[in-house]
Amino acid sequence: MGAQVYGLTPEDLELQARARGFADELILHEQYAEEHGGELRPEVEKRLEARAVELGLTATNIPVELGGRGCSTLQQVLVQEQGGRVTNALAWCLTTPPGWWVPVANEHQRETYLIPTIEGRREGCYAITEEHAGSDVSDLKATATRQGDEYVLNGEKWHVTSFNKADHVFFQGVLTEGEHAGRQAMFVVDDDTPGIRVVRTPSYSHTFAHHHPILAFEDVRVPASQLIGSEADGMSFVYEWFRYERLMIAARCLGAAERLVDEMQAFAAQRRVGPEFLADKQLVQGMLADSLTELFAARAMTYEVARSLDGPSERADLKVAHAQCSMVKLYVSEMANRVADRAVQVFGGRGYMRENVAERFYRELRVERIWEGASEIQRAIIADQLRKRGRAALV
Ligand SMILES: Cc1cc2nc3c(=O)[nH]c(=O)nc-3n(C[C@H](O)[C@H](O)[C@H](O)COP(=O)(O)OP(=O)(O)OC[C@H]3O[C@@H](n4cnc5c(N)ncnc54)[C@H](O)[C@@H]3O)c2cc1C
Repeated sequence: MGAQVYGLTPEDLELQARARGFADELILHEQYAEEHGGELRPEVEKRLEARAVELGLTATNIPVELGGRGCSTLQQVLVQEQGGRVTNALAWCLTTPPGWWVPVANEHQRETYLIPTIEGRREGCYAITEEHAGSDVSDLKATATRQGDEYVLNGEKWHVTSFNKADHVFFQGVLTEGEHAGRQAMFVVDDDTPGIRVVRTPSYSHTFAHHHPILAFEDVRVPASQLIGSEADGMSFVYEWFRYERLMIAARCLGAAERLVDEMQAFAAQRRVGPEFLADKQLVQGMLADSLTELFAARAMTYEVARSLDGPSERADLKVAHAQCSMVKLYVSEMANRVADRAVQVFGGRGYMRENVAERFYRELRVERIWEGASEIQRAIIADQLRKRGRAALV
């Protein structure tokens, strides 16, 4: 009945069930991960990674011709939503290789990096943010200078997620000379290229095996074949990535909120305080009702935007899609944080213990309101498009 509300096809439902079953397997490892700095035993990690591939849950965003699953946007959302039910980033084994790279990768990049990443044999990470350029990525100070058949890269990058797990990094820098001087270009760089140095690896709120170090690029030399697309393309890749990832963040936040509602409800139904169960107390019922209602609204809008992205491409308006992905990311990430806050409250003292799922989500979901464009930036994008295009174009 619930699934019919969202108009999912039998194929969608089968994929969703497969992803859900795998997420349930991952959930069994959360406690261990939390107690071991986010790490699983290497053989367990390898087994789960292999299982994600075997179940057809990786590279959902990549065309079948390249070895991906060729899923619709809605199906990608369904898979990531199930992954979102799992804490400690254990579901990051549901990898989504960089889809924006597919049309612009040269043959060397396709064979050396992209295809192996799709097959689960390589992993990349992003070095875009800097100490003084986060929300405003147009203000980067890192540079790329052409010297003969090479580029020389310099700069310091912050929060480079997964550098400790990855073997190559996407570096974004400002061109210092030539026809496109002042524009941003993106490069793929092997992690072990001389001149790349980990400045430090700060601790973050969550307990993830994937770290976010600060990296220095000091006269890092790469062949010109490592430039992605043409010199002036850097920002367009970032925008395409944002559109995609903001929707997938929303999908994962839906999964988190669903799990929290389920866990809250189960706890409230069996926890007796005085003569009554928590679920009988109207103030607790209010928290459950608000959480469920917001989850319903959030899911409806996320699926709607995913479906519109799957619609005929000639009708697609990129700016409208961008603004709608911003609305989804803004609303769903904020919704999930409200649900996590209520869940901690419903669990009481238990909700403050790291062994409790509500406590872990309470920490982990906070970053969803910050990365890939903080909530304020999403609001600025939405308001800008409302002013330029009017309400009817957007909603
Ligand atoms: C765990 C984690 C992982 C990350 N992973 C990566 C990664 O892999 N690669 C990468 O390149 N980056 C990564 N980031 C960086 C992330 O994208 C940035 O932190 C984010 O874009 C915000 O930038 P900032 O931290 O510099 O904040 P700032 O830009 O300094 O903003 C600070 C605050 O001011 C607000 N603000 C800024 N501008 C405005 C405005 N115009 N109006 C109103 N309010 C405004 C922001 O919303 C924010 O609340 C990661 C960050 C974290 C925390």
